[in-house]
Amino acid sequence: MEDTLEMQKQLLAISDSSPGPVYVCAGEDFKVIYANDATLIAWDKDRSVIGKPFVEAIPEIVDQPYSGLLKQVYTTGIAFFSEQERADLPVNGVLQTFHYKFSYQPLKNNEGDIWAVLCVATDVTELVMARKQVELTNSNLRSMIMQSPVAMAILIGADYIIQVANTPMFKLWGIPSEFLNRPVFEGLKHLKANFEPLLDKVYYKGETVSFEELPIEFPRDGVFETSFVNFSYQPIIELDGSTSGILVVAIDVTSQVLSRRKIEQAELKTQRINEELTNSNEELSVANEELVSVQANLQSTINKLHESQTRFFGMIKSSPVAMALTMGEDFIFEEINEAMLEIINRDSSVKGKSIFEVLPELKEQPVADILRQAFYTGKEYKLLEEPTMLIHEGQLQFGYYNITYKPVVENGTVTGVMHSAVDVTEHVNSRKKAEDAEEDLRLAIESAELGTWSIEGPERKFRTSARFKEIFGFDPDEELSYDKAMMQIPEDHRIRVDREANASMSLGEPFSTEYPLSRFNDGKLRWVRSVGKPAFYSDDTLNTFTGVIHDITEQKLDEQRKNDFIGMVSHELKTPLTSMNGYIQILHGKAAKTSDSFNIGILEKARNQVNKMTTMINGFLNVSRLESGKIHINKQIFDMADLMKETEDETLATISSHRVYFHPVISTIVNADRDKIGQVINNLLSNAVKYSPSDTTIQVACVTDNGNAVVSVRDEGIGIQILDIDKLFRRYYRVEGNPASAIGGFGIGLYLCEEIINRHNGKIWVESEIGKGSTFYFSLSIPIT
Ligand code: ADP
Repeated sequence: MEDTLEMQKQLLAISDSSPGPVYVCAGEDFKVIYANDATLIAWDKDRSVIGKPFVEAIPEIVDQPYSGLLKQVYTTGIAFFSEQERADLPVNGVLQTFHYKFSYQPLKNNEGDIWAVLCVATDVTELVMARKQVELTNSNLRSMIMQSPVAMAILIGADYIIQVANTPMFKLWGIPSEFLNRPVFEGLKHLKANFEPLLDKVYYKGETVSFEELPIEFPRDGVFETSFVNFSYQPIIELDGSTSGILVVAIDVTSQVLSRRKIEQAELKTQRINEELTNSNEELSVANEELVSVQANLQSTINKLHESQTRFFGMIKSSPVAMALTMGEDFIFEEINEAMLEIINRDSSVKGKSIFEVLPELKEQPVADILRQAFYTGKEYKLLEEPTMLIHEGQLQFGYYNITYKPVVENGTVTGVMHSAVDVTEHVNSRKKAEDAEEDLRLAIESAELGTWSIEGPERKFRTSARFKEIFGFDPDEELSYDKAMMQIPEDHRIRVDREANASMSLGEPFSTEYPLSRFNDGKLRWVRSVGKPAFYSDDTLNTFTGVIHDITEQKLDEQRKNDFIGMVSHELKTPLTSMNGYIQILHGKAAKTSDSFNIGILEKARNQVNKMTTMINGFLNVSRLESGKIHINKQIFDMADLMKETEDETLATISSHRVYFHPVISTIVNADRDKIGQVINNLLSNAVKYSPSDTTIQVACVTDNGNAVVSVRDEGIGIQILDIDKLFRRYYRVEGNPASAIGGFGIGLYLCEEIINRHNGKIWVESEIGKGSTFYFSLSIPIT
């Protein structure tokens, strides 16, 4: 009970302070038993109304439905609610309209009988008024839109339903008004892709979007046409801040745009026409100028025509070729130029005088007759390298001239002669000199008993002199072919000579060789030396390959005799040397037994010297054998790896001054003279030792390259100049003027090496850099198994 009382008190306190009216009417006469301040304010009454029946408390609303409603709730017991109810209430004695959201609720006692009605109300006047205002605005907007001459529409909701659109808008869109209340893109499907994003921007973001002169396609009588439109999309914002729709305003500016474009085009056209006009004006003036210049040319041609004769004379005057014009049968100089005056060594005073008066020396010379013939026959005469004498400073001078006499014909008769002359004296003289020189050479060749040969042109025509044929044992008048001549050379030399000649013709290098031949007529052996040089046309084809041969049989015989002598001496020296070596060895053995170190030293030195001498003598012996063809190559199949191993063992036992390194060698089978190849390697090794400082490294290798066994001996010695490299392998050749020349030797080692390798059809060569060292190589072909 107490709780109830307490709650009642609290409720009253809440009601008292409520901003909206709260009042209670009790009993059948609806006495106002409670009314809060808000009620009293709304009714415009004071507290005195408490205790009075409702209709008395506020008589102003008797005619309004409230007392009826009170009764209804009181009797039925069913509460009444209204979201918005109008109430006209007194304000300072005058009725004013208010709006309330309110409820009438029956209040029941413990027995469940209704004893009173509670009214709770909220003043919603302002809200209602505002809503009304919006509605009014909307309807104003609508009517405004409908009456507007400008195309306008309202699109509602996210589907952009056309809520309102005026006739100009439908006209612009090109769709019928049936599309009202339907989504705008149902009518304008083709614009959806481009325009929906724009509308979304307005609808969802509340932005305003506008464009000017935007070209948009709209249907016009079944076809799409472009209209240019200025338009804006504005959001329609509700009271709660949300966007409910979009106001579309559009102005069709197509005709303005088109007419402006037309104007622009017209302007452009005018501008172009103006430009063309300017151009054609320019062209006109150019044409005019051309016309003027054509006329000027015409005039000058006419003038030139008039001046023809003068010009003709002028031409004679300015010609670098000596020219003169004589008239009549007396050959009177009408015109003569500087060049001609120079030839005849006279001045221009000759004009008007006869040629024979001016140059009486010509009278008896052949040219005088020819000049007369030209005049009388009317034919042109050309004389080449005509020997003619002219008086120069009182002396007769001899010269050669190319002369032309060309008759001048006027109206069918010869009136004069045009003379031209070129002094070719120097040219003729130098040619004659060359001819003389050739003659001298011929004589020299003859006296030196040189035979000459030549191979001419791409067809390689072979020509030989009488002496050449004589050396080869042929009749001097006989035709001698290249092949026939070559057949006189022994086969091994023939192949070589032919190869060297062809190499020279293809490389353009000088040709120099020696070869034996057996004379055709008596079969006698002759040795010749042949040298030559090829010359080429500008397109690199052979012009001529000319040369001379010289019989060197006597020289060769001398050499032979010398070789035989060296061979004999070397051979004779070998026997005592062998004995000497033997004795030294015996003594060495003895000294070793008694540990006589002094004698051992001396005897070792003696042995070294004897060895050196033996090597030298062997070298000479080999040369003489080689020269007399007594060196025979005894080929056998063997493995280079074995030979290299032997050489290595021998080298390591004998050479202590240098570090000799043998690269590993894989089995390489060759067909060669094993001893001679060993000799070549030893020779290269001893040169490497000789021509490089002690304690440097010497490397020996044997590798396979392109089907060849390639042996190399590399040293870190003094090296060889490029100049010398070509000559190293020549007999008795030694490099002069460097440390090498101070080292003993006869220049036969490499000569022998080359000969041996050549006889194996192998190759021997060297690569070297001065001061850095040399690498000698030789290669032998590996037989195909
Ligand atoms: P020799 O050594 O008896 O003079 P060679 O025919 O063996 O004769 O050599 C000819 C020349 O080549 C030598 O005089 C020397 O100048 C040069 N020559 C040879 N081998 C080498 C080398 N490994 N380094 C530098 N020069 C060398």
